[in-house]
Amino acid sequence: MDVKESMMLNFTDPASDQGDCIDHKLSQSFGFTAGWVNTIRSNNGRCLGTFTLYYRENHLPAVQHHRLLETSLKLCALALERDSFINDIERLAYYDSLTMLPNRRLLMMKANSMIANAQRSQSSMAVLFIDINKFKQINDSLGHAAGDLLLSEIARRLQGSVRGNDFVSRLSGDEFVIILSPSSAEQAIAFSERIISKLSEPMMLADVKIAPSASIGIGIYPDHGNDIHSLLLHADQAMYKAKSAGRQAIEVFDQVINDSTNDELTLSLALENALESNQLTLHYQPQIALDDNQLFGVEALARWCHPELGNIPPNRFIPLVREAGLMPKLNQWVLTEACRQMAQWRDSGLAVPRMSVNIFPVAFRDRAIIDLIQSLLTKHGLLPSCLTLEVTEDFILDATDNVISVITEVRQLGVSLSIDDFGTGYSSLSYLLRLPVDTIKLDKSFIDDIEKSESARTLAQSIAGICKSLQLNIVAEGVETDAQLEILRGQGYQIAQGYCFSRPLAPQDLAQWIRGRFLSSDDSERYRISAPKSLP
Ligand code: C2E
Ligand code: MG
Ligand code: MG
Repeated sequence: MDVKESMMLNFTDPASDQGDCIDHKLSQSFGFTAGWVNTIRSNNGRCLGTFTLYYRENHLPAVQHHRLLETSLKLCALALERDSFINDIERLAYYDSLTMLPNRRLLMMKANSMIANAQRSQSSMAVLFIDINKFKQINDSLGHAAGDLLLSEIARRLQGSVRGNDFVSRLSGDEFVIILSPSSAEQAIAFSERIISKLSEPMMLADVKIAPSASIGIGIYPDHGNDIHSLLLHADQAMYKAKSAGRQAIEVFDQVINDSTNDELTLSLALENALESNQLTLHYQPQIALDDNQLFGVEALARWCHPELGNIPPNRFIPLVREAGLMPKLNQWVLTEACRQMAQWRDSGLAVPRMSVNIFPVAFRDRAIIDLIQSLLTKHGLLPSCLTLEVTEDFILDATDNVISVITEVRQLGVSLSIDDFGTGYSSLSYLLRLPVDTIKLDKSFIDDIEKSESARTLAQSIAGICKSLQLNIVAEGVETDAQLEILRGQGYQIAQGYCFSRPLAPQDLAQWIRGRFLSSDDSERYRISAPKSLP
């Protein structure tokens, strides 16, 4: 908007520039004949809008109007800046800055509503997992700029191939996901064939002519899953099968499912047994307070070592825990084991100030969680303030009055509540404010690009700013490099966790890690361990 700082407009004078900041309809219906237009500016002088006082008669503003204006301009600037700040955050948070396609976060949100629609209309939909063949070789040999150009062009071609209801997103690196709704398996295959042919049109990259190619795996709702996590997992598995079958291949999950389903079924059955037969253990990853480099606490992460199959990673068995309905059992086991371990460390003279435990949100549907926590704390003589429960954002979807009242009671015990993987799911700050949350764990995906991407830095900074103003603690998770750590430290992050300090460790290794850091003279300052103030 191009307006002077302040101007008086006479609506009855045809020669006067009426500007685009006058609401003519309003003026006519109330009989206003003049307007005093004033520019609303941000702190740094950016024009945010205009504030207009309307008059029935054409006269100059009175003294009290000047006073009114002075306060109103400030208030309007505050409100508008906050608004544009939130819009910026949303744009940065939900769109990939290279291709401008929706990112994983938006995909997860959008997929949930598309699944709900498909369920209502009893139609099927297809999730296509698209992986660009030989992307790494192209990136390595022609350079990152060429790789970026290729990804942008592929995004453009994918976006140009879908219908209005379909959804294209970039999952990460060279992986894209398209949701076709509605779509049968046959329609999804026909679409994938068209995509593969469109993608293979030659393009010039750094003076080299290349014909991109892709492998596509397809998962169909409802046949291959009722939620986006299992549909993506199955489409991904199908994509791997497609890739191993040869370049340019398309696979529907159904056709590849037999072997792997049997595996999953075997695992599912084995899991229940695992919970009872000591196959599960907890590993612990240190969290460091950035202001004084002390050990802030540890996060407990479940590990499963199957006697024949070996180590099965959490991203494989946690979905099975959900599918098999074993969440309450795992919650109970993890809490019990973590508290026992805390007490054991304390008894052996090792100061671990806090323990974070990952909890499936289903726990809060039942008041039993309150009694369980209370009895574990009493049994082991632990202070409630040493325990934090981590839940993912999705639990907000489940936050009925009953759930909120259980959470509130847990918080009243003195136990903290932390939102894990913040920004990857149904992230709504306004919803969060309704809940007694005290900590937010910013997801690793925000931190991955923080060194290279200006927008990732802005986003991390904005989230830190919002958390500060809402008096929420913030933890950066998945910090891998010292450079990332320094940026986060500079942005006011209080706590960090990630491979740059340590991977998750078995209890005895963690004890050694802490003692090593504490006792070694070089590092004793860097990783100084606080006195066990929170423990009796
Ligand atoms: P999470 O709770 O967000 O845990 C962080 C994950 O990031 C862990 O993976 C950890 O090993 C990994 N990580 C930490 N720092 C770095 C880093 O610098 N770089 C990279 N690349 N990764 C890092 P993990 O142990 O495989 O666990 C994966 C997820 O499984 C957890 O994510 C959590 O959602 C779930 N999970 C693990 N244990 C439990 C549990 O006891 N109960 C429940 N409900 N979920 C669990
Ligand atoms: Mg966690
Ligand atoms: Mg996390």
